[in-house]
Order: sequence, then structure tokens, then C-alpha cells
Amino acid sequence: MGKAIDHMSSQPLPILGADVTPIVPKKPAIDPSSLKHKDLRRGPFWQKIPAYRGVDEAAFLDHSWQAKNSITKVSKLVETIQELAPPGFVEDMEKGMKRAPMSVRVSPYLVSLIDWEHPYEDPERIQFFPVESRLLSDHPKLGLDSLHEQADAPTPGLTHRYTDKALFLPLDTCPVYCRFCTRSYAIGLDTDEVEKVHLRPNEERWKRAYQYIASRPELEDIVISGGDAYQLRAQNLAEIGEALLAIPNVRRMRFATKGPAVMPMKLLTDDAWVDALTRVVEKGRTLHKDVVLHTHFNNPNEITGITEAALGRLFERGIVVRNQSVLIRGVNDSVETMTLLVKRLGHVNVHPYYVYVHDMVQGVEDLRTSVDTAIHIEKHVRGSTAGFNTPTFVVDAPGGGGKRDAHSYEYYDRDTGISVYAAPSVKPGQLFLYFDPMHQLSTHQQRRWADPREQQVMVDDALAAARHRAR
Ligand SMILES: *Cc1c(COP(=O)(O)O)cnc(C)c1O
Ligand code: SF4
Repeated sequence: MGKAIDHMSSQPLPILGADVTPIVPKKPAIDPSSLKHKDLRRGPFWQKIPAYRGVDEAAFLDHSWQAKNSITKVSKLVETIQELAPPGFVEDMEKGMKRAPMSVRVSPYLVSLIDWEHPYEDPERIQFFPVESRLLSDHPKLGLDSLHEQADAPTPGLTHRYTDKALFLPLDTCPVYCRFCTRSYAIGLDTDEVEKVHLRPNEERWKRAYQYIASRPELEDIVISGGDAYQLRAQNLAEIGEALLAIPNVRRMRFATKGPAVMPMKLLTDDAWVDALTRVVEKGRTLHKDVVLHTHFNNPNEITGITEAALGRLFERGIVVRNQSVLIRGVNDSVETMTLLVKRLGHVNVHPYYVYVHDMVQGVEDLRTSVDTAIHIEKHVRGSTAGFNTPTFVVDAPGGGGKRDAHSYEYYDRDTGISVYAAPSVKPGQLFLYFDPMHQLSTHQQRRWADPREQQVMVDDALAAARHRAR
């Protein structure tokens, strides 16, 4: 069938013989150069960074070299990029870092993906290096731990919000630190702005989590996040996996890691870690329990030839990988970029699962977009590729309502930027509010938000309208 036809040219292949009538295309042919999702960055692209000029492929692909050379201070970044960035940028970043809720940690791989001659617009720079000149003041309704993960935790580092699934946080470090992290209450080092709740790797704490999970037969699905599973030593990863698989009620597990997006080479060179993951997946398979990897790509630039090789290794081992993105202003908040990301993920056998409307996190107001933007992009992405590779756009309802389909609001006022969600299966009878960033509202509405009495009026009106509609 389809195999005999070259899908790019729609010319009959010789195998059909000369006497076959040519196929008349019903859709105009596509210019192959428009298939940008297949066009991955290859070659020693890192060598354009002054400090990496002499770094060969073997060193660059070595995950311990990546970890050791990760950037955590402005001075190290300056040594690395030298004169590449425009004047004033480094000072701007230095001031930005002083005001940030997250500490900085960026892998050489990510540093190499950044266009340092135009750092203000670069999607990786935006995600990992704050600059003061682009910061915006917080929406009055923002708060750390806006998702109430700590309030829904029966024991430290285990959040039980949904009936049949729980979120287990074995540790609080990551291979990189993202500015927009939802868990800025816990992840990374204390900063000038935030003192964190620490969740160190600790077998006693882990055991209490297993005990709780085993005591709740309705719990079937465990998300192992953090922090980041990339930071677990191979042996710990295997132990955690096996301990959870041994609990009879556990049927599904996902290891969550940003690793493939920010340090894909670990999957090529840290054999102990990849083997430990493979062992847990295979053990799960013999028990008919589903063990998968969830990762976090946000921009198509993050998928290179190295990523393709790394994920190919997992694919060969039958390890299912899904992706959760965050919708971020300047990073992926256009139809074109999001469609390219989704198609490129499909190309490297990663299933796009969720796109989150940015959580209401302090200190990163410049990164948020509106619910309206999410709904608009979703409409355009749907239909551009296989349905099973099409992500669901969700709002993780502040206050612990859980993930809601972005377009399933009970009420949404685009003028005030207030959306109201119900979560009948999670917190019946409650309503949850999300607030669009102020910079997208009219100056009139911004002035209303500056007045606490007006804030109350807007919120009360939205809740009343939602109550009227909710069923
Ligand atoms: C996201 C999340 C889960 C998993 O939810 P899915 O919709 O199944 O991906 C579980 N627990 C908590 C607290 C979460 O935030
Ligand atoms: S990798 Fe995930 S948990 Fe870690 S800082 Fe980034 S968003 Fe937060």
C-alpha cells in the first residue's frame, strides 16, 4: 500500500512498472525544506563557544564532564562565553540573578545552544538565565507553592492529591535549574530571595513514603519527580523502582527527568544509570506494570542530533518516553514554535503529553502567558500530526485543584484575566482561580488590580458567574 509510494514526491516508484497511470495529487506537494522538524543541529556546534573550542566530541558527550563544567556563577559564564554577548548583558544578568527565586545551574550543552550574540531573544537564555531589565512585577495573587503540594503531603516529599496517583519527590536537585520551576519552594540552593524546604535524598524519608503508598490500596500510579531522576545514583534509582514495583497496589510508575532536554549525553555515556532504568522497566514488564520516563522539552532547539541518538537508545530498549512542556513567553508561545516542537518530539519518538499554562510562580512574571494564548495554540496544533502525539493544554489549578483542560473553564473573563475552574473528581464543590499575567491586560484593568478593593470585586464577580454555570 502506502509503502510503494514515495511520500515526498508522489512519483510512482519503478516497482510499479511503466504502464501504471500516474497518481494525481489532491494536496499540493510540500517543499521538503519546510519539514524543519527533521532538520536537527549536528556537528561540533559547541566549538563556537570560546571555552569549548578545544573540546572534542568524546569530552562533550561525557556526562560527568557536562556536570563538572555546569555554570552556576556569572564569573564562570563570563570565562566561558568571553566577548560573545553584547555589552551590558552580563551586568544585566548579574542583577537579575540577585533577584531570582531559583539558583542558576546550566549545562555546557545548553550554553552551546544559546545564540549569545542575541541573548535577549534566545529561548534557552530566557529559561535559565534571568536578566533584570526584562523582569516584571508579580501579579498580586502569586505565591510560592501555588499548587499546594506541601498542603496535600501526608509525609514530606509525597503529595497525594488525586485518588489513584501520587507524586513522590525523592530528592531536591536537578541537572539544571529552570527559572520557572513550580517547586521553587524546594528545588535548588537557597537564594537571596528564597529559603527552601529541603528534600534531601534520605532512605528513611523514602521508606515512610513507601509505607504510606502501601497503606492506600487506591494508589496505583506513582510519579517519581523531584528534583530530577537524573540526579539519582543508578543504585538508588533501581532501589526506588524495585521498592515501588513490590507494592501490590502500584500498577504504573513514571520517572520524571528534564535530563534528555538539557543533558542528553548522559543517556549515551552513563551506562550504569541507563541500565538501572532499563532493569526497572523490564522488571515492571514481567509484573505487567507500566514503567515509563517523562521528560520536559520546551523549545525545538533543545532537540539535536545528540538528543536523537540518546532517545534512540531508550527506544531500542522499549522505554516509552512522554513529554510535558511549560508554555513560556518568548520560548514556545507561538503556533509555529509549538507545532515544530510537537512534530520534532514525534520525530525522536517522544509522545507530547501535556503543555502546562505557566504556574503562578513568584519572580518570573515575564515568562507567563494567558489562558487565551494556550487555547489559541492548542486549536492550531491539533490536526498537525497524529492524535496520540498531540499534547493536552492544561492549567494546574492553583490551590491544589489539579490539572484542568485549559478550555474547560467554568468562566473566563479575558479583560480581567481571571479564569475559574472546577475539579469535581479531585476537590468536589470547590472552585479554583487562575490569573493571566498583568502585562497582557489593558492599562485600565492593570489599575484595577493595583487596588485591593477592586481585586476583591473582580474575584467575587468571577466566582459568582462561575457558580452560576458550574455543574
Ligand atoms: C501531575 C500530577 C500527577 C500526575 O497527573 P497526570 O495527569 O496523571 O499526569 C499526580 N500527582 C500530582 C500532585 C501531580 O501534580
Ligand atoms: S528540572 Fe524540573 S524540578 Fe528541576 S528546576 Fe527545572 S522545572 Fe524544576
